[in-house]
Amino acid sequence: MRIGVPKEIKVFENRVGLVPASVRELVAHGHQVFVEKNAAARIGVTDEDYVKAGATVLPSADEVFASSDLIVKVKEPLAAERAMLRPGQTLFTYLHLAPDPDQAHGLMRSGVAAIAYETVTGARGGLPLLSPMSEVAGRMSIQAGAHCLEMEQGGRGMLLGGSAGVAPANVVVIGGGVSGVNAVRMAIGLEASVTCLDVNLERLYGLDQQFGAGLNTIFSTRQAIEDYVLEADLVIGAVLIPGRSAPKLISTDMVKAMKRGSVIVDIAIDQGGFAETSRPTTHAAPSYVEHGVVHYCVANMPGAVARTSAFALNNATLPFVLALANKGTTEALLDDPHLRAGLNVYDGKITHPAVAESLGEPY
Ligand code: NAD
Repeated sequence: MRIGVPKEIKVFENRVGLVPASVRELVAHGHQVFVEKNAAARIGVTDEDYVKAGATVLPSADEVFASSDLIVKVKEPLAAERAMLRPGQTLFTYLHLAPDPDQAHGLMRSGVAAIAYETVTGARGGLPLLSPMSEVAGRMSIQAGAHCLEMEQGGRGMLLGGSAGVAPANVVVIGGGVSGVNAVRMAIGLEASVTCLDVNLERLYGLDQQFGAGLNTIFSTRQAIEDYVLEADLVIGAVLIPGRSAPKLISTDMVKAMKRGSVIVDIAIDQGGFAETSRPTTHAAPSYVEHGVVHYCVANMPGAVARTSAFALNNATLPFVLALANKGTTEALLDDPHLRAGLNVYDGKITHPAVAESLGEPY
């Protein structure tokens, strides 16, 4: 199959659909890969790296789209990219169509089969093409939180791990799923005093087994959240109720009662945020202070570490790209219900029930 990797053109997007190691796997299976010039230059991957892996580097996106049966991207295609799609092509990328009717209608008109990373399911549950980014965001939340605790950010001037003879910071992670467990790991690694709250007892049992005495696990209730948040130096919001807005677990009154200079990192901001005082920020101005508490609420945290994120995403997408390339789109979709769950647009129609419902389209 002919596979195309255009350079991402969305603002601040530096990840790439396929890294050279993925290209090499595809080429070894007998496929041809076309990569746009400078597709991954910003993350330190050169055109020469792609050529060594067996790709053909083309000078423009036009040529990549025109040469390929399968387009592998990271973000949804912008209007200029949608104009280059043609019937019979397959598009594999993050799409997030539910709140984006223009994009959905554009893809329906284009005649492509569009498979969305975010709705591909996993054999053991979960969303395997979303979880690498939760992993990155969880790990990054502790770095970001540590920075926000510094004086010039408005923080309390605390080092997470304290010092000999000085107590470490109290880190409270609310939600012990993919991002939460990664936040916990990083915080323990930096020798903070760490507590994780979750409503799922099995999750807490797993965390307790994994981290032993290094982690305090607490069943999440209103009372427990209040008790621990008021004592915290750094609170990480890592909750998710699938398909719903994030529950507001931290009220404005609670924020007012928190220690001055303490920090909230709201990873769940992409679902509306878990604190009433959270509002989305960008990497250009990632934090603000409200009621004396520093808030870090960047909705695309992995974008700041695009190199790590691109490789982590590729590890998760490669098996599906190989299946699409080796079997062809139709056969690959028929063979694998989890990949099929990712199909959002086919033959001019929306093919995912939740996406169709959100857009008011027939299903
Ligand atoms: P996950 O499903 O793996 O984990 C969520 C956890 O929250 C679950 O263990 C669940 O039991 C727990 N939970 C639900 N309600 C709770 C409550 N009331 N109290 C305590 N725990 C509760 O989800 P995830 O993959 O870790 O994602 C978490 C959030 O991070 C999502 O909103 C996701 O979209 C977001 N995210 C944001 C970024 C970013 O850049 N900001 C990046 C990746 C993911």
